[in-house]
Amino acid sequence: MFQNKKHRIALISVDGDPAVEIGQEEAGGQNVYVRQVGYSLARLGWEVDMFTRRSNPKQAAIVQHSPHCRTIRLKAGPAEFIGRDNLFDYLPEFIREFQQFQQHQGFHYPLIHTNYWLSSWVGMELKKQQPLIQLHTYHSLGAVKYRSIGDVPVIAAQRLAVEKACLETVDCVVATSPQEQKHMRVLVSSKGNIDMIPCGTDIEKFGQIPRCVAREKLGIAPEAKIVLYVGRFDRRKGIETLVRAVAKSNFRDNADLELVIGGGSRPGESDGIERDRIANIVTELGLENRTTFTGRLDDTILPFYYAAADVCVVPSHYEPFGLVAIEAMASKTPVVASNVGGLQFTVVPEVTGLLVPPKDEVAFAAAIDRILANPAWRDQLGETARQRTEIAFSWYSVAFRLTQLYTRLLTQTTSDTYPQIAA
Ligand code: UDP
Repeated sequence: MFQNKKHRIALISVDGDPAVEIGQEEAGGQNVYVRQVGYSLARLGWEVDMFTRRSNPKQAAIVQHSPHCRTIRLKAGPAEFIGRDNLFDYLPEFIREFQQFQQHQGFHYPLIHTNYWLSSWVGMELKKQQPLIQLHTYHSLGAVKYRSIGDVPVIAAQRLAVEKACLETVDCVVATSPQEQKHMRVLVSSKGNIDMIPCGTDIEKFGQIPRCVAREKLGIAPEAKIVLYVGRFDRRKGIETLVRAVAKSNFRDNADLELVIGGGSRPGESDGIERDRIANIVTELGLENRTTFTGRLDDTILPFYYAAADVCVVPSHYEPFGLVAIEAMASKTPVVASNVGGLQFTVVPEVTGLLVPPKDEVAFAAAIDRILANPAWRDQLGETARQRTEIAFSWYSVAFRLTQLYTRLLTQTTSDTYPQIAA
């Protein structure tokens, strides 16, 4: 146990429920991050409560993940899915529920770690009403996102203002890559404290399955050349670039080439619409016989897909961090990624994979082909990728670094302001 006394801490992620199934609309990296950080912090001795909003009447109000880590779902608007851009008006209700929860439990949280801009606002409002230390992880920056999309939502101005206020006033912002840290400084504000602690991955779950075993399990031929995408269906993920790159590959006429697209979607919703658009492009390009849409990949099967692949492609237009890249790397599979954001930090070109300009299907095709053409190099890249994740990106090391940061911030306050609870 890292500490002999436990501090209660709250991770707040209004829109990213750590207890839901991952891999479809608006449930991706942020949910994984909060859940894994919560678990890992609890293992290091914290008493962790993760707060989110209830988005379905069937959901349990409290999910106990481990003895010292639970998800607590609060009421904030109707118990139904509401997109992030439409949640702001429900946040005052979330705050009232949070305060009532604290009152009912008879304590308040000395430290909260908020996630995404909506929760940063919740944290800043709470901080006006009770003493607390607030840390924040953005997961996505409006200032970066709005540069790359045409249809800026109505909420954009509000989001940008909140993100600026957050950086300037919370006790510490946690950037997950040096690239994100730079964006904060250049595009958000020169004021405020930033610490860089990356996202992590489960190095025990990934990387334990030999390629041949994974292929046998998935019914993939040993000689197949598997190009894998894992992630949500969202235009900004650049799946179209990948499909067009596969159509331009030198292996295009080789019967062994297979494109596997993993990720969930819901018919008629925005991810379902994007999936259909991608499926139409696949058909137009005559790739339907060599493309598989797996649907959502759950925890039990995802490690097999990463292990079975020759190359994992992350063609995002922008990525603040990009968990999929380090999951593939932990699985000894090299990554071809867009040369953007956190991918520039995780993927080391020519060492753990390759980086190419976003949206450049010709460059993606060339990079994918280089790896497919040379299995020995593929294996070498995969081995180094695995080593890099073990050294830099285990959840344990992330939680350890967060623990040091929390502890430093907590010890700067007086112990009678923030009473500890017994272990
Ligand atoms: N994911 C999953 N099953 C799927 C598709 C995605 O579990 O079918 C997970 C994936 O393993 C990763 C997360 O969703 O942990 C996506 O995180 P990332 O940071 O790559 O992208 P985001 O969704 O946050 O934009």
